[in-house]
Amino acid sequence: MSLFGLFDKKQKPIEVMKTSPGKLKTYMQCPMKYKFLHVENRTGRKLSTHHLSFDGILKQAVEEFQKKTLMKFEDIQPDELSRMIEANWDPARFEGVENAEEFREAARKAGRVMTQWFADNRAFLFTHRREPALGVFAEYFVQPISVWVRLDRIERMPEGNLRLVIFKSGARQILPQEMKHDLGIRLQMAAARELFGESMNRFAYVYLRDGNTIEIPVDDLDLETLPGELLEKIRKIQDGDFDPHLGPLCSVCEFLEECPGWPEMPWKRVGEDRETYGKRLRMSYSKMSLFERCPRAYSKLYIEKIAPKPQPFFSFGSCIHAVMETFYDKNNDEKRSLQYLMRVLDETWTGFRIGYADDNEESRYREKAVTMLEQYCNRFVKSQKFFPASQIESYFEIPVGGDTVMTGFIDRIDARLDGGYTVLDYKTEPTDRTQDAVDKDLQLTLYYWAAREWLRLDIRELGLFMMSFDKLMTTTRSPDQIPGLLERVEQVTRQIRAETVFAPKVNKYCLSCDHLNGCPIEETVRSDGRLRTMEFTEDDV
Ligand code: SF4
Ligand code: SF4
Repeated sequence: MSLFGLFDKKQKPIEVMKTSPGKLKTYMQCPMKYKFLHVENRTGRKLSTHHLSFDGILKQAVEEFQKKTLMKFEDIQPDELSRMIEANWDPARFEGVENAEEFREAARKAGRVMTQWFADNRAFLFTHRREPALGVFAEYFVQPISVWVRLDRIERMPEGNLRLVIFKSGARQILPQEMKHDLGIRLQMAAARELFGESMNRFAYVYLRDGNTIEIPVDDLDLETLPGELLEKIRKIQDGDFDPHLGPLCSVCEFLEECPGWPEMPWKRVGEDRETYGKRLRMSYSKMSLFERCPRAYSKLYIEKIAPKPQPFFSFGSCIHAVMETFYDKNNDEKRSLQYLMRVLDETWTGFRIGYADDNEESRYREKAVTMLEQYCNRFVKSQKFFPASQIESYFEIPVGGDTVMTGFIDRIDARLDGGYTVLDYKTEPTDRTQDAVDKDLQLTLYYWAAREWLRLDIRELGLFMMSFDKLMTTTRSPDQIPGLLERVEQVTRQIRAETVFAPKVNKYCLSCDHLNGCPIEETVRSDGRLRTMEFTEDDV
């Protein structure tokens, strides 16, 4: 029986479902992986990932360091933590890694900056039940779900309130705007407040690699919607919703070789073993086009791994895609209408609210979304019989040549009455395209090839829904265009492998680039009257 059934009859819970932020994160990434790990308790084939080794060594050393320095911080040498990291260093865990020395240098730097961080913060460590508040466990309970979280460190700040500190060892740093809706952060903070009360009012991530602290006050965290979100996820788990979510993370998944989502292992297509295949350059249309557009911007994102700043047009575009995904889902038995489309927009919008400068900007984009979807419904839904999509957000991963793996997601594939299929892609940008541009569009050629090669579908037509311009632009491709496409993919891989300079290159996205400030050609870009940002202006709405 479902756990939820127990409460319909106003009974007290007889069974509590225990979970954790880590388990929920796994479920959100891939329900099938959750099933393998937490329903079937399988272990899978552990892959040696040097990033995980690095993170583990840092975290372990920081824990030891905190315990050791509790009583007499004054005796601590500035290189104490670095030495503890060195003592935990296991070169075997980095064997075969070309940049193993870079990891070691990063570890030494982490040791230096974090020793300073602990020195600066030592007076703030809070005492809980007569013990220093380190590694405290706390529970967040919403009937019938119990979530246990580990709170790395609690501090009493000078003004008297408490701050929860969670140490992070990864390279990618969250942006404050992203923290607001992060399920893990909200669960940690809600559990901390259950234990410490209202004086617990600040949350901070401290990044071990550079000592950077990113903090958010509790008032900015969206805690009100937490119970509903949690119940919805648990309900899906209870209902046995364990679909595989194929995507780039599959390449490092310990269950890849037994996953039903992958009927054939990709390395077998080219007669390689998993290790050899893993050394290929993983490519996608956006990666390839970013490199061709501007090697400097490519380097910032894929080599320096600087996460893109949230932008209104990213949230807006992702939200429209998510709305269409729900609307065309073949497992959805709602009657399709404008009312339903607007309801889906309402339900989806809350998940894509980062990047807007203020409420005004968000409502401007919201109005744009309503107009766009109304127009879409009038033109493409009301006037014809509705058919759900044959495939939505379909992932592909195909080896190309000897050194590339091409990956991507196709927005939508519709079955046609003539027995073939149409590939469709949504474009929400405020700039229009010519028919000639659509006929030559490389992304569509790529999807044509991928849908044939990966899904074995007969693609008769391809189309771009230009959502800002209320139109569908269609085109076709033929098999003789495929060799040219693959040659270009291989050529870009060769260029990326050989690139050392990653020079800036002016292009139509420069004014929306996160790295425009300080770009060597910033002045040229700013004085180029032909360029515009990708944001909707007042005139576009
Ligand atoms: S291989 Fe991919 S789809 Fe399969 S369980 Fe792992 S993450 Fe999920
Ligand atoms: S501003 Fe333009 S040229 Fe400079 S890094 Fe960004 S995309 Fe490249």
